[in-house]
Amino acid sequence: MKALAYNPNSEKTSFLELIETNKPELKANNAIVKVTGVGICGSDLLKLNRALVKPGTILGHEMVGIIDEIAPEMSQQYGFKQGDRILSSHHVPCLECDYCLRGKESLCTKFKTTNFNPGAFCEYLELSEDHLKHTVQKIPGGMTDEVASFTEPVACCIKAVRHCEHMMVVARPYLQSASLTHHGPKVPDAIQTKVLVIGLGSIGLIMGQVIRHDFPNSQITGLDLQETRLKLALELGFDQSLSALQTDNIFNIIFLCAGANATVDLASKHAANGAIIVVFSSTPDETHFSNNDIYYKELTVMSSYSPNLENLKESLELLSKGEIKVDKLISHRSNLSELGANIRDCSSKGIKTYLDIQ
Ligand SMILES: [Zn+2]
Ligand SMILES: [Zn+2]
Repeated sequence: MKALAYNPNSEKTSFLELIETNKPELKANNAIVKVTGVGICGSDLLKLNRALVKPGTILGHEMVGIIDEIAPEMSQQYGFKQGDRILSSHHVPCLECDYCLRGKESLCTKFKTTNFNPGAFCEYLELSEDHLKHTVQKIPGGMTDEVASFTEPVACCIKAVRHCEHMMVVARPYLQSASLTHHGPKVPDAIQTKVLVIGLGSIGLIMGQVIRHDFPNSQITGLDLQETRLKLALELGFDQSLSALQTDNIFNIIFLCAGANATVDLASKHAANGAIIVVFSSTPDETHFSNNDIYYKELTVMSSYSPNLENLKESLELLSKGEIKVDKLISHRSNLSELGANIRDCSSKGIKTYLDIQ
């Protein structure tokens, strides 16, 4: 089968090389999936550009596909059959360790070591029993592959925003008795939460929509340098989108979705007293938050990495109801052989690339 592998010498094609490799084989406890599409994630690009994986590695995790073969016992036990349109995320938590029991599934050792075999930049991949049991979901009828491929990234954003709901309640003792529902704590109408999303790539544009869903009354500002992204943010429900901030722009919650060194300083500067800063991307260099800003302004710097299983289920639900809109986030579509060129073009003027492997 055809696949795209990481090759440090293929700079012209975004470090991707089209190779021929063996199709994974059906075993007693797995399923083979014909990959039909996969979203290209910022983390894939990071791994390629910063040589964070071994040569020959096949990346790709925002996968959708069709079950090509499934072991009879797996089919019986988990209810999937040949021909089912499915999606799956790549990591599976153990649900038993200290992290998992504390709701920090993405810190679980098993979570970090599980993966598809190989990654989804290929024609066929193998899903383990763990995947079939926990992460595989059927794609609802009527939902396109493109939309379904956003299940994992949207789930990542849901978890990040939910972290803040918790902080909002803890930060306000008089709200502690208020019920914490999935639609957010009941913040008194008089208090308006000003939220800033730095970086309006696909993740920033999704984050804004999840914030709107959870905090309907919040005032959401997006910050980015690209004109098309600023316009799209307004279409997707941001209250304003800016290419620069003024000194008096301050915010109660700031999401760092840009992966740029300068955003760390920017966040501290524009954080209101008592603000929450949510780190949601890595930076090229080691950057630091100021101890004294955190102390005197009582800032909470927190992070959210990858989703929990419950976030993946809710994500698919929100996507199927159209509450999170992702259609316009795919700026580039590609086949296997042209992916490298498309990724390059997308990183200079696009939002997200989708690899179509029909
Ligand atoms: Zn991803
Ligand atoms: Zn665990």
